[in-house]
Amino acid sequence: MASLFEKIVARELPADIVFQDDRVTAFRDIHPRAPVHILIVPNKLIETANDIVDEDESLIGHLFTVARDLARQEGIAANGYRLIINCNEHGGQEVYHLHLHLVGGAPLGPMLCR
Ligand code: AMP
Repeated sequence: MASLFEKIVARELPADIVFQDDRVTAFRDIHPRAPVHILIVPNKLIETANDIVDEDESLIGHLFTVARDLARQEGIAANGYRLIINCNEHGGQEVYHLHLHLVGGAPLGPMLCR
């Protein structure tokens, strides 16, 4: 069965998609933690950061160049932003389809709250 984010990539579930190409899809987080909160996901399923293989290096790099471009597009590049990938239980991962959070638009405070 397709993952939640695979369904968004395939446009079988609604989402506010801000960018899509043949490798990645970016859409606004449904519960934004900041004025700008976008998720950038590989179109193919990679469940966690642990599941990245050597052949994915270019794809993972592409997630970051798309994040850079979206930060500029959203007007948050100069003031700054945070890029986050959560992995497994201790990382607080909720959706098991690798995704890069692009979060910004306001001061974000300390990196970790425990
Ligand atoms: P993580 O904890 O890193 O796995 O983050 C999962 C993120 O996916 C959370 O920030 C959720 O708010 C977000 N999310 C869950 N379902 C959806 C959805 N249908 N559309 C957009 N974002 C979602």
